[in-house]
Amino acid sequence: MKTFSLSCMVRLACIAAALHLAGCTDAQKGAEQDPEMAPLRHGWVDEQEMASLEDDLGVWPSYGRTYSEQRFSPASKINAANVSRLGLSWYFDLDTSRGQEATPLIVDGVIYLSTAWSMVKAIDARTGDLIWSYDPEVPRKTLVKACCDAVNRGVALWKGRVYVGSLDGRLIALDAKDGSVAWSVRTTDAGKPYTITGAPRVIKGRVIIGNSGAEYGVRGYISAYDAESGELDWRFYTTPSKDGKPEGAASDSTLAMTYPTWSKGGVWRETGGGGTVWDAMAYDPELDLLYVGTGNGGPWNREIRSPGGGDNLFISSILALRPDTGDYVWHYQTTPGDSWDYTATQHIILADLEMNGAVRKVLMQAPKNGFFYVLDRETGEFLSAEPFAPINWASHIDANGRPVENPMARYPETGKDWTAMPGPPGAHNWNPMAFNPDTGLVYIPQQEVGFVYTPEADFEVRDRGFNLGVIHPHLPDDAALVNQIGKTLKGALIAWDPVLQKEAWRHQYPGPGNGGVLTTAGNLVFQGAAGGELHAFAADTGELLWSAPAGTGVIAPPISYELDGEQYIAWLVGWGGAFPLAAGEMSFLSGKVVNASRLLVFKLGGGKELPESPSFPEPAIVSHNVTPVLAQAKAGERKYTQYCGMCHGDSAVSGGVIADLRASGAIADEEVWKSIVLDGALSGLGMVSFASELSEEDAEEIRAYVLSRAASSIDRNEAQPAQ
Ligand code: CA
Repeated sequence: MKTFSLSCMVRLACIAAALHLAGCTDAQKGAEQDPEMAPLRHGWVDEQEMASLEDDLGVWPSYGRTYSEQRFSPASKINAANVSRLGLSWYFDLDTSRGQEATPLIVDGVIYLSTAWSMVKAIDARTGDLIWSYDPEVPRKTLVKACCDAVNRGVALWKGRVYVGSLDGRLIALDAKDGSVAWSVRTTDAGKPYTITGAPRVIKGRVIIGNSGAEYGVRGYISAYDAESGELDWRFYTTPSKDGKPEGAASDSTLAMTYPTWSKGGVWRETGGGGTVWDAMAYDPELDLLYVGTGNGGPWNREIRSPGGGDNLFISSILALRPDTGDYVWHYQTTPGDSWDYTATQHIILADLEMNGAVRKVLMQAPKNGFFYVLDRETGEFLSAEPFAPINWASHIDANGRPVENPMARYPETGKDWTAMPGPPGAHNWNPMAFNPDTGLVYIPQQEVGFVYTPEADFEVRDRGFNLGVIHPHLPDDAALVNQIGKTLKGALIAWDPVLQKEAWRHQYPGPGNGGVLTTAGNLVFQGAAGGELHAFAADTGELLWSAPAGTGVIAPPISYELDGEQYIAWLVGWGGAFPLAAGEMSFLSGKVVNASRLLVFKLGGGKELPESPSFPEPAIVSHNVTPVLAQAKAGERKYTQYCGMCHGDSAVSGGVIADLRASGAIADEEVWKSIVLDGALSGLGMVSFASELSEEDAEEIRAYVLSRAASSIDRNEAQPAQ
């Protein structure tokens, strides 16, 4: 009781002091950090905490640790000399089997994290015990609007509250003490295909949140809510209103700039044009600038989206805004008139770099399009850009910061197929990179994934599924060819020198889609692999110093913190996301991994044993004595790829996260199949009715296609017995 009241008094004093803009004294702050009282602080992060993170080894209070989003931990007890002794300290099993992309946060010995399905947990970092759990009960049918699994990338903490964006478009404030809901607001139009997967950030008492959905047909925006009351403070649309008229939004002042960059006709007026703010944000408190990255144009195909061309501001751009008002300050567009899903939502890092003898305040991004950009973050001035991966859509970025394009890449204008590097997964995706101020290097989860863009001549806006204006390719039904294509897909961790704009070292993986990165003052870089291994590298040389099994594919980045004098590395693991859902056989490049979702926590000398993971669920494909009509199966191929492939896998091959359709009994029975595909019999599991898009005939054609895929898998296995 005594501890409780003392802590309360300290807390009240702090709050009172904060209200008078004086802040807590060091003594008060010290008292609050007494381990005995620590759990009573309950997720307390404020301006003062965010401003003094250099010395505070015990916290990871925001998505990228600091507002500069460097993902650099100043802790160094675990270092290049001793990291080989790193072992599992404890683990926590999660109650979901979808992809885990979140960055856990820790304040005062409590870990706050989000999991797939936007669920939130508070875990005691000393004992590994669950303190509370919150489930926003996202309707499973939301999956039909989600390109890339039921993932969530993290929560935000502010003054005793935990903020999470839910997949179905709510922003929810929880009491950090017990997980009870303080307020909940809908931030998107539930009638439109919006989702939220990104982590909110809190800046000066405002919760900033974006959304996703540009593949389906939405208009991107970012919103700021009062952290205390949940009231909307401002909203900034990344594409103009369809008539170019003001709409009472922070973005109104940019209409004269943005509206003329879109054509007078075009599908963008119907779909909103894309440009969703689904991931990156950073903040410079000195300049008082909030930076956000925006997504691809929607539909991808510009000739359909905005016929006749145009840069289509602000898609695929970096925006600098005032966090108090959402007022526009500057923008830089990485991919003008994007037609390739080259989002600029990828991780943004702020740092001060010495360039040409002067220290520059820079912003760095390695977006999907394959160029590493260094901009002046005060003015938006383009400083430099070089490719950090093989690319063929542009030769270079000119002195004005504009890409010099390969004319053949403009498939909407040529009307011809374009075989691109990179494709829509990007040379770097959402998996966060990290910057180490000691080495001056940026560590990027880089990948090489090509793609063939075929313009869709007979495009019409659909109610269900993607609206790309591109006919989605699929793998050929030929094992040797699939094998050849597989050899072109690559993944690596690369160390990039942002001043020299060149690679310093790399670690090559068997496939793409590897995890986010952490770097530390112990001269270390940590990264988990899609294939299920955890690694630590020397930050300066790239030497592999430590490896351990994760028991599942890893896509999320780890964090580090000190607690009671010991340094820990905490990692959310769990295979999922876009790759194992959509990529079919290509998702096996790194190995056949399962989803075993856990929080893993490591320390030097940790001796806890990781439970054995279940083996990969090899689909039991049986012969149904039904011979699909070839013409019907052929007709079903494109419909499957258009409506089904992004979840059930390229060519009906599941990456193991959800059941393999070829092994489903439903494919043998026309009535059962129809009840699922057209009547929504499994909508409770997320498989909604596609009756608005597909006729009975279409459903039968898709069934014939899946049956043909099952039959050919059986044939192939007979011809080539498993090794
Ligand atoms: Ca996209």
